[in-house]
Amino acid sequence: MSLLENLREIAEEIGPGVVADRRDIHQYPELGFSEQRTAALVAARLHDLGLDVRTGVGGTGVVGLLRGGKAGKTVLLRADMDALPIDEANDTPYRSQFPGLMHACGHDAHTAMLLGVAWVFAHSREQIPGTVKFVFQPAEEGGGGAQRMIADGVLDDPPVDAAFGMHVDTERYVGQAALRSGPAMASSDRFTIIIHGKGGHAASPHRTVDPIVVGAHLITALQTIVAREISPNEPAVITVGSLLSGTTNNVIPDSAVLTGTVRAYHADVRGTMQRRIGELARGIARAMRASAEVDYRVGYPVLVNDPQAVGLVKAALGKLLGSDAVIDREAVMGAEDFAFILQKVPGAMIHLWVRDRAWERPRPVHTATFDLAEDALPVGVAAMAATALEFLES
Ligand SMILES: [Zn+2]
Ligand SMILES: [Zn+2]
Repeated sequence: MSLLENLREIAEEIGPGVVADRRDIHQYPELGFSEQRTAALVAARLHDLGLDVRTGVGGTGVVGLLRGGKAGKTVLLRADMDALPIDEANDTPYRSQFPGLMHACGHDAHTAMLLGVAWVFAHSREQIPGTVKFVFQPAEEGGGGAQRMIADGVLDDPPVDAAFGMHVDTERYVGQAALRSGPAMASSDRFTIIIHGKGGHAASPHRTVDPIVVGAHLITALQTIVAREISPNEPAVITVGSLLSGTTNNVIPDSAVLTGTVRAYHADVRGTMQRRIGELARGIARAMRASAEVDYRVGYPVLVNDPQAVGLVKAALGKLLGSDAVIDREAVMGAEDFAFILQKVPGAMIHLWVRDRAWERPRPVHTATFDLAEDALPVGVAAMAATALEFLES
């Protein structure tokens, strides 16, 4: 039997080890660019497997290189390692030991699964027709760890021919995977607007310039960019996530600070929103005797899955899980910094369903009660390994 045909069985055998790694990492979550403990665990595992290991790539990133027994192409497999500033509400034996920090996006599972794939390939090295680059990146949650790793040469020496990543998804039950051909996840930018007014006694508003009222008008006006200026056929989101101003009920403050996020699928839509947020902020502030400072930060690009790579993943996962287990994923307004890697090399982001069959409702990522069905982990290991093999053999 070929390695591909044995993958499910091998992944099930090493499943308990993958679950143990996931629980270990889950208990000690670390924020972006602070993943010292996680990176050390990853590097130790990769060393033990006999891979060439580079640490400190793009901050706390780790890269393991496995040269197969036969010459061939190079495939990059990526996991992210960072956690979120959330206080875990679950009461499991492996709950977070760090108050205020939690692996609430499943990056603990991504890291453990990729270590599982490294184990599988290291134990069948002579059958691997090419090179596998295992990439464990820091700071996916807004820090752009992938971009830092690219700047640090993660795509060079040897050059990478294709890249695949995996993310858990909590909507559907374990046993399935999904991906989308072409643009699949949105671009993501952030903005901060400081409205400068003139504070004073709340009983004498005519002697002040109230930045809260200016902010209220601005928030309403920002809604009209998507509703009135962007084509209804184009996905676009502007969300004001915070408005901070004032200290008490009877004082008009000097300033107000708004922050928000901007999501899009097309460069012109993205550009329009950037330009119009600035124009509205400055224009409304000026019209109301205030002034506005706008700081707009361009973030992650649109994530585009290569159609050929998607076809290859579907073929590999079809053989592994059955063709009805691989479904087309809808386009979402979430963002992923794996998009930076897919800008440079063809590849795809695979979404692995992880909802436990016993859970009436999903337990979504980025919440304090997020969790996943651990029997999804061997499925993920086999799926990543099958994808890499399918590519190297193509
Ligand atoms: Zn996340
Ligand atoms: Zn994530």
